[in-house]
Amino acid sequence: MLFQSTRHNPRSEPAAIGFAPALLAGLARDGGLYVPQRWPVHQPAQLCARIGLAPEQYLTAAGLARIGELLLAPLLQESVLAGELPAITAQAFSFPAPLVALAPHGRLGVLELFHGPTAAFKDFGARFLAACMSRLRTPGQRPLNILVATSGDTGGAVAAAFHRLAGVQVSVLFPKGLVSPTQEHQLTCWGENVKSFAVRGTFDDCQRMVKAAFMDAQLNRRFDLTSANSINLGRLLPQAVYYAAASLKGWSEHGEPVSFVVPSGNLGNAVAGLWARRLGMPIGEFVLAHNVNRTVPDLLETGHFEPRASIPTLACAMDVGDPSNLERLRSLYPDLAQLRATISADVVTDEQIRARIRLGFQEYGQVWCPHTATAGEVYARLSPTRRRDGRWVLLATAHPAKFREIVEPLIGRSVAVPESLARLFELPSQAREIAADLDALRRELT
Ligand SMILES: *Cc1c(COP(=O)(O)O)cnc(C)c1O
Repeated sequence: MLFQSTRHNPRSEPAAIGFAPALLAGLARDGGLYVPQRWPVHQPAQLCARIGLAPEQYLTAAGLARIGELLLAPLLQESVLAGELPAITAQAFSFPAPLVALAPHGRLGVLELFHGPTAAFKDFGARFLAACMSRLRTPGQRPLNILVATSGDTGGAVAAAFHRLAGVQVSVLFPKGLVSPTQEHQLTCWGENVKSFAVRGTFDDCQRMVKAAFMDAQLNRRFDLTSANSINLGRLLPQAVYYAAASLKGWSEHGEPVSFVVPSGNLGNAVAGLWARRLGMPIGEFVLAHNVNRTVPDLLETGHFEPRASIPTLACAMDVGDPSNLERLRSLYPDLAQLRATISADVVTDEQIRARIRLGFQEYGQVWCPHTATAGEVYARLSPTRRRDGRWVLLATAHPAKFREIVEPLIGRSVAVPESLARLFELPSQAREIAADLDALRRELT
């Protein structure tokens, strides 16, 4: 299987490359993002037969690892990593994604994607990428320099996954003062091969600096640069796995497709879900929940794409005004009518996030982080018919303990901190403050 840039021009030389080179490149040379050239389609019944586990096991660590191996095998065909795929998925999917049934009639569930080392769904992609990249380095090669811009959770997940990995240097860029205290600690507590930079700017500035670094000839001569952002193919493919596992479970148990409400920012998670559907998974609709950074809802409504400066909100990991994976979304659905038929999107204000955190606790006894609450709110706005006819899954993207200062006053009790997070808090924090321009970053890279 080969991968090509979203900006690939059919008349230019064939620029499709294999899985491993696409992973190491991060961004394509033309500034586009890598996508599969073709979509191998699985049959759900055949896939379930091959999994060899009962459906209630699909969302355990072992179930995710097995489903990941089967789902992704056709995409890694002929890759140097093909033979390693079972070992890679076993290493990456080391924690479960429990599906908690909510409503009395059982047609609504919450998929908890926050049981990894840094308590957000980004652990799935980061761990898979690390498992792949560590197998692509040979001793004596110059180190791989991973640049990662983060709106809060990516940087921590990537730092945790790559910390102390031989032959890899990681630089994490985050917007100073715009991430939660817990998130900031997770970005800055690593040291050794992980450096953290507090950028005087927004997430979009961080993302722009990273993209500029990839396009910079001088930096590319000095370093083997790559990205661990969701522009990297190796981050997105593993995220298709939990959509596959949840939808195959629903399909096996009830014979119905599963629809998802996805808290969205840079659109990596949404694109991974759409990819799972392209791969033949029994998925119905996608509803995207955005905070007031409304580029995507506006695009669906008006047909016009207008990147904007990002606005800080309570759901800070979704404060994205110029989502990089929009390019992948448009390449899947070049036609706006088709795009609208597949996904819808809605906007949630900070006030509505607060109200929904309270309601989620009152109605379901659930404690939601601000991102998950946007999904809860958007689900509640669907028409009663749409809610009743569908089998819905809300993606819980982060553990509420990462946002204690927001969540605890709203629900009137304290949130227990998972052990893996608590351990990180014992480490000292260190970050360098830099200006929001490429030259400032250039001076720091060594
Ligand atoms: C990154 C993140 C999101 C947004 O995901 P995208 O893939 O960027 O759309 C939502 N919630 C949390 C907790 C996140 O960390």
